[in-house]
Amino acid sequence: MKTSIKSTAGKSPFTKIIITVIIALFIPVFSYTIFQYSQRNKDEEIIRASYRQQLESILFSINQHCWDVFRSWASTLTTTISAMEASGRQDYPEKLRSFIQGQKPIVGAAVRLPNSSTYFAWQARRRGAARNDAVRMDSIIAAMKPEIEKMIGRAREGYLKPVAHLWSSDQTQSTSLLLFPLMTPTVGASTPPLAALFVDDDVFVGQVVARKFAEINDGTFIFAVRERRSKSILFATEETEEQQFELTETLWLLPHLDLQIKLQGISLEQLSRQRIRTNLIFLSVVDLVLLLGVLYLLRNIKHEMALAKLKTDFVANVSHELRTPLALIRMHAETLEMGRVHSEEKKQHYYRTIMAESARLTQLITNILDFSRIESNRKEYNLSVQDLGKLVRTTLKMYLYHLQQKGFRVQVDVPDDLPPVNIDSEAIRQAFVNLLDNAVKFSPEVKSIDISLQQKDHRIILSVRDHGTGIPEGERRKIFEKFYRVGSSLVHNTKGSGLGLSLVKHIMKIHGGDVTVDSKVGEGSTFSLIFPVANSKGVV
Ligand code: ADP
Repeated sequence: MKTSIKSTAGKSPFTKIIITVIIALFIPVFSYTIFQYSQRNKDEEIIRASYRQQLESILFSINQHCWDVFRSWASTLTTTISAMEASGRQDYPEKLRSFIQGQKPIVGAAVRLPNSSTYFAWQARRRGAARNDAVRMDSIIAAMKPEIEKMIGRAREGYLKPVAHLWSSDQTQSTSLLLFPLMTPTVGASTPPLAALFVDDDVFVGQVVARKFAEINDGTFIFAVRERRSKSILFATEETEEQQFELTETLWLLPHLDLQIKLQGISLEQLSRQRIRTNLIFLSVVDLVLLLGVLYLLRNIKHEMALAKLKTDFVANVSHELRTPLALIRMHAETLEMGRVHSEEKKQHYYRTIMAESARLTQLITNILDFSRIESNRKEYNLSVQDLGKLVRTTLKMYLYHLQQKGFRVQVDVPDDLPPVNIDSEAIRQAFVNLLDNAVKFSPEVKSIDISLQQKDHRIILSVRDHGTGIPEGERRKIFEKFYRVGSSLVHNTKGSGLGLSLVKHIMKIHGGDVTVDSKVGEGSTFSLIFPVANSKGVV
């Protein structure tokens, strides 16, 4: 029993490639894009939060720095007073004076002993009435008793944090009072003396806060220090009245002041939106490039696949085209050899048929060889100045019998006096024969061919006109591509390799000329070879 297996095509390779591309590339990439797009609000928030954190950390480091400055003051004063106590002397005003010297932000300092006696020292520019100061300080201390006790408790645990109070404030200047316990070695379990530092807010902000900010800022931020209650600005890196600040934080050391910060020239919201937009635009451009790339790739694949198919057809066509003339030659030769042909006329006919068919075979093989030489860049042309009319006439002479045999009426209009052209005669003969061959093949009914040679300006035009099938408009460019054959049933029944016209085009290009086609379906086609007239030196 014989089983025949026929391969079923299933999905075409091209469809498979498209499906693979969609699954492997488009779905992941476009899903990612859609995801990013849908997440944009969340992403904006994340970016905003991260910038906000950056602002917070800047203000935090400024606050930290102020603490450090205060701690160094406190430790210097504690060391000075401890040394004084150790020496057994009691000269608070002198020690306080030497302490405040060189500390610009501190306009005064005081020590209040547990027995309520208070010693003051003021900078020369701020010498206040000592009695008044003591009374005021007493009343402040009395008012803040619970906080002060808490502060002393914490100081005993090693954590020194002052109690701050606005000491004095007028239009030009405000002074803060910082109270903290002097934890000298002699204190022990008894109540420690209280130290008081009178800090000029303006000088403190200018010398400590602003300097620290300048150290951090690289021009990205705008920064200000503002009195909380009056909203008046003590310091700002830019004209800030109109500015909407992103973040406000209390200055820990002087809590009646606020630190404020924002980004230069843009709000956090705008910035994060801009970032997301840039990201999305970038992503869209990537998608677009990808899409165009894939489309280009698919086009090329399609083209290559079509070419592969044409090549397969080519093999089938050529085999067919070789077999027919060979069979004819063999049959005629055998008949002659057997001596079956008696009439001289008939013999001549057989000889001519054999010659014509072998000429056609030669033409076909030349086409294939030339094509392969052109493809591998090995084809060479020898151009020389020639009379094209002569070449046309001699070629036709060789070909006429074949044409007449096929029942064609050939009309030739080739004048004698045309200027010469610079050509490779073999190549041009081949191009011309290809056109004749096509005219014969594609004229199933009206068998008439007109050949004309004429000059138009500086060009010589060789035209081959048939009254055959014609070529549809959409195919007229493609027929010059290698292996291409018009997909009508007539063409499929007609022998051919699909190489003829692509060779003609190549040959004409080498000659600095062109090949054109004018056609009407059902009425015929005219193929024209256009040559430039050779100049006196014979150069094209
Ligand atoms: P082939 O003739 O071997 O098929 P060609 O490259 O010479 O290959 O021609 C390509 C195609 O162009 C032909 O298959 C045919 O469809 C079309 N063609 C060429 N010449 C003619 C013509 N004179 N009339 C109609 N169609 C033509």
